[in-house]
Order: sequence, then structure tokens, then C-alpha cells
Amino acid sequence: MTTKPASEVFPVSDNVAKMQASSTLAAMQAAQAMRAEGLDVVDLGAGEPDFDTPENIKRAASEAMSKGQTKYTATAGTRELQQAIIAFYEREFGAGYDKSEVMATSGGKQAIFNAVVSLVNPGDEVLIPKPYWVTFPEIAVFARATPVFIETEETDFVLNAEQVKRAITPRTKLIILNSPGNPSGRVIPPAEFRRIMEVLNGHNVFAVSDECYLRFVYPPAEVYSAATLPTELRRRLCIAGSFSKTYAMTGWRMGYSLASPEWTSAMLKVQGHSTSNPNSIAQAAAIEALTGPQESVAVMLKEYGQRRDWLTHALGELPGMRCITPEGAFYAFPDVRGCLKGEMKTSADFAERLLKQEQTVVTDGAGFGVEGFIRISYATSLDRLQEGVRRIRRVAEKLD
Ligand code: GLU
Repeated sequence: MTTKPASEVFPVSDNVAKMQASSTLAAMQAAQAMRAEGLDVVDLGAGEPDFDTPENIKRAASEAMSKGQTKYTATAGTRELQQAIIAFYEREFGAGYDKSEVMATSGGKQAIFNAVVSLVNPGDEVLIPKPYWVTFPEIAVFARATPVFIETEETDFVLNAEQVKRAITPRTKLIILNSPGNPSGRVIPPAEFRRIMEVLNGHNVFAVSDECYLRFVYPPAEVYSAATLPTELRRRLCIAGSFSKTYAMTGWRMGYSLASPEWTSAMLKVQGHSTSNPNSIAQAAAIEALTGPQESVAVMLKEYGQRRDWLTHALGELPGMRCITPEGAFYAFPDVRGCLKGEMKTSADFAERLLKQEQTVVTDGAGFGVEGFIRISYATSLDRLQEGVRRIRRVAEKLD
């Protein structure tokens, strides 16, 4: 029996045909499938908090449901949620935003999607520093723009203004910034962030700042939001925020954007014709997340910090592995090139061997644009991390 080519079975659109499937979601699904088979999986793939959503947030959702908050809301989210987001930025960063600049979204991913597709045209260049979160280039490609990657290995994956300046051309429309970064965990120092924004401003280039790991920064690095920039540097800036990591709310799909009224109104059109509005119950939960007690964030941060310290030290002890201590997020991104030997030629081979021989899930760096590295999520208990490192050691030390 001959199998028909996929294009004859379903004529997938050119825009989607050019997209790659999400490798982070694939790693999560690989772990789920192995667990379903009853295997003893160590999942260091998922970029997802292992903590449960705090009880006060869950209660707020139940109450909203009981009170019948089950209808459509305004496209930009309820007025209460917009107010809560504005008050949060005022309280935490002394930053002033107007309601016309705030929009709730179905996850941080939708905020980034809205921002990119409402700005770029075919042929526009979108700067994406490496390593990047897998979704950034795919959204640019979907919008028929051209992703232009910035190499940052020379600065150990911390982007600087000079690198941005060198990458700008007359076609550059947008850059996607992400600090703390996924997968590197590196943080752009605030003064450097400002210099980057000054360079962009000088060339009329727009910026999306993905601040999904905003609160997960380990001292002495400091929490920093681009919202604190002076107004003239915020004119071409869209902040994409998320509730997923800060409040352990990945499944609730709640995020938001902060951008100029003009950019926001363009994004509202996209959202109005795609999801209409974020889930009404999740919006009520998000209000409680921002306005209720914040202790749970400090508890998670402390725990992640301890795991980070243990993990980066342990990885540094493995033969051939090099791991810079990340200042934020919950990922380590070690260089495994020194461990490659025999049949194991790439970081993908390394990740594959870990998966097949040790039932341990990590994410290959190539999906983030950097071959030779693997991403290890430490959003998992210290016990499991320790077991994971034992298994990684077995693969790193194995001689063919
Ligand atoms: N952001 C997380 C990660 O990088 C979740 C998966 C995704 O949405 O890509 O693993």
C-alpha cells in the first residue's frame, strides 16, 4: 500500500507549513507518555512549576463561578483585572499605565502573538537573541517576517547593546527580549537593558519584552521590569507578562500585555477575532493573584534558589560539562559539548540517550537555537533533581 504525501491528505497553509512544532511541549508530552507506560521518569523538561496554585487563588475562582461570572468579558479583560494589573505595576515598580494600555490575554504566549502579528509585515526583520524561547521565531515566521538571530555565546548568553546595534538593518522592525531568559536563565543587567532600549529608540525599532520570569531572580541579581523605563523609551515597547510561573498557574492560561494605546488597540482586534477574551473565571483568579497575599511567591523563589545552587554545583562536577550559574528563571543550560563522544555527536543525541537509556527528559538546546547545550528545568523536587543528575552522570561518563 502506498502512503499519500501529507500535502495531498491535507493542504496545510504555507504560513503553518513553515512553522516548527514546539519542542518544549514535545518534551513535556514525551514525559507524560513514558509516565503513562509506568516508567520511572525524571522529568527535567517541563518549564512548569511543580508547585500547586495557591489556595486563595483557587478559592477566588470557585467564588467567581458560584457568583455566575461565567459570561464573556470585555476583550481586554474585566475592568477589575485591568485595574489590578495597573496597581501591581504602580506598587512594585512605580510605573504608571492607563487602562487603554493594558490587556489581559490567554497566557503570556498570546500576548506575544498579539504583539508580533499586529506589528510586523512580510519582509520585516525581527531580531531574536540566541538562545531564544522556541516560540519567538515561529510567531515571526507565521507573520511572514524574517527572524534575524543575534549570537550571544561570546557574552555567555547575556545580550548587550553593542550586539543589538550590530544586528539592526533598515528592515529591522522589532526585537523580542526575554530577561530572565528561557532557556539560559541569564539576566540582562538593568543598566544594559536601558542601553539596549536607547539603541532601539535611536533606530525606531519596537521591542517586545517577555517578562514571564519577572519575579524569579536570585540575589544579588535584582527584579527588573522594562516598565520602569522613562516614557520616551516605553513608546515602542510591549511588555508581555504571565501568571503561569509567578503564581504556578500554567493551566489557567492567563497573561497580559502593557503597550501604547495604539499598539493595544491593534492587539485587541487580533484577540477579538481569536479568543474574544481570556477565560472569565481565570480572570477572577488572576485578580486575587495580584491583590492577595504574596507569600507563596517568596516560598517558591526560595525553593528554586536552593535547587539552582545545588544543581549548578552538581553539573559543574560532571566530567566535560560546563554550566554557568543562571541568575533567574528555573533553568540551567549547560554546555555538553565536552561530553560528546562516539555515537553521541550532538546535544540532541545526548538528550535522546538520556531519554531512551535513563528515562530522563531534558530539552535539546538546538530547539532554542544553540546546538551543544541542553536545558534542565529545576521546577522539580530536589530529590528528583538529584536522581536526574545521577542519570545524567551515567550518560556523560559512558564510553562507547
Ligand atoms: N514556557 C515553558 C517552557 O519553555 C512551557 C512550554 C511552552 O509553552 O513552551 O517549557
